[in-house]
Amino acid sequence: RGFESMGLSYNVYIGIKRRGYSFPTPIQRKAMPYILSGRDVVASSRTGSGKTAASLIPMLEKLNHHVPQAGIRTLILSPTRDLSLQTLKFAKDLGRFTDLLICLLVGGESMEGQFEKLAQRPDVIIATPGRLMHHLAEVDDMSLRMVEYVVFDEADRLFSMEFGEQMHNILGQLSENLQTLLFSATIPTALFEFAKSGLRDYKEVDL
Ligand code: AMP
Repeated sequence: RGFESMGLSYNVYIGIKRRGYSFPTPIQRKAMPYILSGRDVVASSRTGSGKTAASLIPMLEKLNHHVPQAGIRTLILSPTRDLSLQTLKFAKDLGRFTDLLICLLVGGESMEGQFEKLAQRPDVIIATPGRLMHHLAEVDDMSLRMVEYVVFDEADRLFSMEFGEQMHNILGQLSENLQTLLFSATIPTALFEFAKSGLRDYKEVDL
């Protein structure tokens, strides 16, 4: 069964077709119906499984239109600049028939360019924890309070000691009323504990 059976909006659906995807991958087939219905999902998945699109397509479907006054509605965190960049490329490509504004906040690029992008009131932020923290500290009216959809990509790494303090800080700025998606190759104890305490009745999806 194809993407047409998932009840997606036309502008999201044709973005998928334009990208050349004919059928959902197994993880997309398993995870997307839960995500689309609003459930939190913890998915164990490898790179190459199609996990990026599995979180991006429901995000495009939920947001769909640019709403400047709504603030940042989606946050996609990943541990590396490269992964964030790749996710941005996917999001722009799959979302080309939506008018969502997507802003990349990663290191290795000037803060100034990113300030300008933020000032345009993006709907979606794709970020690494360090640079996101940096912006939250610098930009007075930047807030994660309106975020309603969060994706933790390569969550095993995000929830490791490496990002401990940054992640603690970011989680503290999110509202409680969130849909959370956690994608990870492995589910170490720290991550499992976060999932148990921080997520709502989540669904586990294995590939
Ligand atoms: P990912 O696991 O997210 O890194 O994706 C791995 C590769 O699979 C990427 O090149 C995607 O463009 C591709 N891909 C994702 N979903 C599909 C699909 N439904 N059909 C074909 N290719 C896909």
